[in-house]
Amino acid sequence: MRIDIITLHPALLEGPFSHSILKRAQEKGLAEIHLIDLRNYATNKHKNVDDYPYGGGAGMVMMVEPIANCIEDLKSQRDYEEVIYMSPDGELFDQPMANQLSLKGNLIILCGHYKGVDERVREHFITKEISIGDYVLSGGELAAAVVADAVIRLLPGVLNDETSALSDSFQDNLVAPPVYSRPAEFRDWKVPDVLLSGHEANIQQWRYEESVKRTKERRPGLLDKE
Ligand code: SAH
Repeated sequence: MRIDIITLHPALLEGPFSHSILKRAQEKGLAEIHLIDLRNYATNKHKNVDDYPYGGGAGMVMMVEPIANCIEDLKSQRDYEEVIYMSPDGELFDQPMANQLSLKGNLIILCGHYKGVDERVREHFITKEISIGDYVLSGGELAAAVVADAVIRLLPGVLNDETSALSDSFQDNLVAPPVYSRPAEFRDWKVPDVLLSGHEANIQQWRYEESVKRTKERRPGLLDKE
């Protein structure tokens, strides 16, 4: 999978992709992340990429022309399955959407800034708009990092234990059960006996029951989902 992220601030995204699991995924050749600096596609000598909104009002708008040039340049080099715009009014990101995106080939993710992008970009280039939650960020970069992280960790071979992503929260509309590691007793806080029993079927049963219990307590809405 290849993800091209179009941004005014590539440096904001360098950190998230150069450590831990996302770094390893790239080193193993399972994911390619390219940070595309939109300023390279500015059309005037001042390298402006934003301008005042028609009709007046506060804030700047990211101009259509540099974005159009950038997306068309990328598309002339390869095909993309989605051109995504990160936006607070987009479709709410969740695990099923991450699962779907993880099956795609090449993706473009456009990060907005200021008041957002000229509407003509959304009308003519964008195939999917994603929000990571009902709050407003200052830019799309952190949101794009969230989406890319959630998607890349699902690619086969990225996580060491292949089954690990499947046992995470939301994959079966349940949150994850509690987890423990050594020591079996710390102060007088004990790990549940069943986890030390070595009895695989009982352990699975316990984990499932704990997941259901937690979901009822914390996220009852998940139990009504398809
Ligand atoms: N004026 C816009 C907000 C712009 S915020 C509005 O009210 O809808 C600037 C940029 O940050 C947006 O273009 C978008 O790319 C990004 N952004 C902000 N909040 C976001 C969210 N919840 N999810 C995804 N992207 C978001």
